[in-house]
Amino acid sequence: MTALGENGPVVIVGAGPAGALLSIYLARQGHDVTVYESRPDMRQIDISAGRSINLALATRGIVPLVDVGLIDKIDAITIPMKGRMIHPESTEGDGGPLTLQPYGRADHEVIHSIARTDLNSILMDAAEAATGTGSVRFEFEHRLRNVDFDRSELRFERADGSETTVGFGTVFGADGGGSDVREAMLALGGGTEDTEWLDHGYKEITIPPGPEGEFQLDPTALHIWPRGEFMLIALANPSGDFTATLFAPNDGPESFAALSDPSIVESFFAEQFHDLVTLVPDAVEQFQENPTGRLATMRATGWSAGVQAVVVGDAAHAIVPFHGQGMNLAMESVRSLDRHLRENPADVARAFEQFEVDRKPSADAIADMALDNYIEMRAGVVDPDYMIKRELALELGQRFPDKISPRYNMVMFSTMPYQEAQSRAARQAELLTDLVSGASSIADVDFDRAAELVEELAPLPALDPLARPGVLSTDAPPRLPLREV
Ligand SMILES: Cc1cc2nc3c(=O)[nH]c(=O)nc-3n(C[C@H](O)[C@H](O)[C@H](O)COP(=O)(O)OP(=O)(O)OC[C@H]3O[C@@H](n4cnc5c(N)ncnc54)[C@H](O)[C@@H]3O)c2cc1C
Repeated sequence: MTALGENGPVVIVGAGPAGALLSIYLARQGHDVTVYESRPDMRQIDISAGRSINLALATRGIVPLVDVGLIDKIDAITIPMKGRMIHPESTEGDGGPLTLQPYGRADHEVIHSIARTDLNSILMDAAEAATGTGSVRFEFEHRLRNVDFDRSELRFERADGSETTVGFGTVFGADGGGSDVREAMLALGGGTEDTEWLDHGYKEITIPPGPEGEFQLDPTALHIWPRGEFMLIALANPSGDFTATLFAPNDGPESFAALSDPSIVESFFAEQFHDLVTLVPDAVEQFQENPTGRLATMRATGWSAGVQAVVVGDAAHAIVPFHGQGMNLAMESVRSLDRHLRENPADVARAFEQFEVDRKPSADAIADMALDNYIEMRAGVVDPDYMIKRELALELGQRFPDKISPRYNMVMFSTMPYQEAQSRAARQAELLTDLVSGASSIADVDFDRAAELVEELAPLPALDPLARPGVLSTDAPPRLPLREV
């Protein structure tokens, strides 16, 4: 049995949300940690353009931030989003009436837009400032090139092409979906990796602030232009702009491949996202310049190699972004890894094994639900059957708060294991289908029968004590005045 640090230095590869947060937890346990990151320090150089600039932060990501004492700093830079603002298909005027589909009935049931760079910078600052515990040192522009498990050595390439080799006792692979640490572990044998590429990709464009620096859309909603096979979404940034992301098939009639020429892109935007045309005068230029990203679900087994290595975050479980959960899942997993290490202080290999047993079923469940949510977002949100069921689920959640919570809410606002959210949602879906049968609105639903059916359900589990409702501001005024639209 070996304790962490007993057999050599503690190293993290990757300073994304998982690696940076993990370094704080490990320092808190008293370890001296070095984090190697292939990119430059994002606090000094802008490296985020065109790649998932902002993210939706929800309860599972908030809890670890409360745990490490950073939530007040995070509160200052998040924008609450209270629901989905649906932009209908229209080629008239300002794009037709918008409708807000609230995420919940309770005030705290909101998600929070946060800039990836801001979150990561807060985490890295806090890691470097760790005092009275272990210490954290970041080495930027160091790309992992090789893991030699026999010699316990990691080889890194620096930005200038030179190489350095460092010894390690344990390496934590927090190096994202294409993890090199995971690849090296797979080469040892014993694990599996299954990457399922989605036949849809994404591209980001910026909706700039208006002439007075004002938000051009309501910043307190997640905007969706649902168009069946594809969709555009937009989340506000504190600087007054929005990051909009087009998710669409890679090939086919309405696809990235078909949007091959500026005039086609121009008419596509005019037809599909009419209200954006005047708000984003350079949409076509941005579309041409920004990269098209690929999306995949990566399921792996064999997350650890004895005491020497473990993967965490996207490196262990990468999912498609349609539930806004990849980072939330990654941060929840980091907290779980911290707990397993503390529960097995003398046996790090066992801690790693327990971590996988604990988290793998959760990761697989949210991977499935994230894929399902793409269909819900691009088509379901304007489907009458979906809309009545969603409204009924919210109503039942309010009438029977100990028994019912819509699937979206169990994923975003609870801390129950994802697989429990998935199985409860399947049972609730049967119940909703039964209750809305023949109803054209929820006024037609037989609520006595609903009460009988709900009675059979097990009570909802309690929230993690750190998941205090309202820990992030839910009614924060927009940082800038909202322009009337
Ligand atoms: C379009 C899009 C939208 C998303 N929206 C959301 C959202 O709203 N909410 C949400 O919760 N999640 C969202 N996600 C998912 C989220 O981005 C990821 O789940 C999250 O970033 C995972 O964090 P991580 O630290 O595990 O990995 P990463 O963020 O990928 O970080 C890995 C780090 O490792 C570094 N690295 C990689 N290889 C090496 C190497 N060989 N050597 C050294 N360093 C290396 C990388 O440079 C990077 O800094 C979205 C993803 C996409 C693509």
